[in-house]
Amino acid sequence: MCAGLGRIVFSSSRELTRAITAKVVSAGHCFVPWTCHAAESLFATLFPSDCRLCGAPLVKISSLPVCEDCLSAMRPIPGEVCSVCGEGLVSPYAFAQEHDEPRCGLCRRLGPPFAKATAYGSYDGGLRELIHLLKYEQVRPAANVLGRMLAEAITDLSSSVGETCLLVVPVPLHTRKVRQRGFNQAELIARAALKLKPVGMQLTLESGILERRRETQSQIGLTRHQRRENMRGAFAVTKPAEVQDREILLVDDVFTTGTTVSECARMLRRAGSPRVWVATVARTLKIEATYAISEEEEESGLAKAAHG
Ligand SMILES: [Zn+2]
Ligand SMILES: [Zn+2]
Repeated sequence: MCAGLGRIVFSSSRELTRAITAKVVSAGHCFVPWTCHAAESLFATLFPSDCRLCGAPLVKISSLPVCEDCLSAMRPIPGEVCSVCGEGLVSPYAFAQEHDEPRCGLCRRLGPPFAKATAYGSYDGGLRELIHLLKYEQVRPAANVLGRMLAEAITDLSSSVGETCLLVVPVPLHTRKVRQRGFNQAELIARAALKLKPVGMQLTLESGILERRRETQSQIGLTRHQRRENMRGAFAVTKPAEVQDREILLVDDVFTTGTTVSECARMLRRAGSPRVWVATVARTLKIEATYAISEEEEESGLAKAAHG
């Protein structure tokens, strides 16, 4: 027997490197710099991998090819945001009524169909690239990091939600897109977030309640009203009995113009949900909104780039 002879069989060079690194660390040799460097350079030689965001060489073994610096640069949205939709506010006090929470101009004019939307970070820089790694390059371990951020956004809602138990509904993709991608990123991120049990929240994931009936056209150059028209009929509630009298937490990777979550919320409210909450990992903020493009444009743009 191999085990009896004390032989260790490695099925892959990856396992070999793991074993070597584990041995180096467990033997306490990390106090001797050259040993560590030797292990790192051996690792780098076997797996010449760079951070997919900044290009720095990766020296730690991780299933996510993103360096610590890039991950720690993904910070929550700084400053004051609209208490309803989460938009960044330049001068919050200009928008706040007395004893009232600040609202952006749009939410003051026209309340959205959801009770409150919250996001972890701004949809730019590293966070945008990390979401792209998951969606377009199928780097699934990115969902765990994004799930951690979503859990923080969800925790943010807890004081507004109170004791109510929420049904968590990921924004659905069209079945054709799920087949092509292999997963719905909103669902993967939601599952990762729920594993962390956001503090003080009672959450149940229900991914089959809502479906995307058609793929929507490009929203570029459309007015708010036209975007809504464009989105009309794109979603349908498939299990109205489960929605009746239940408060819902809609989750998605990105909140761009809010048209998608607004349309989902409208359908859920119409099916009998008294309140719909929204949590996303990222959000485009006003300053970037000038350049904001919808998910559809981004995907068709990336698809074009990939095909030539
Ligand atoms: Zn990096
Ligand atoms: Zn707002």
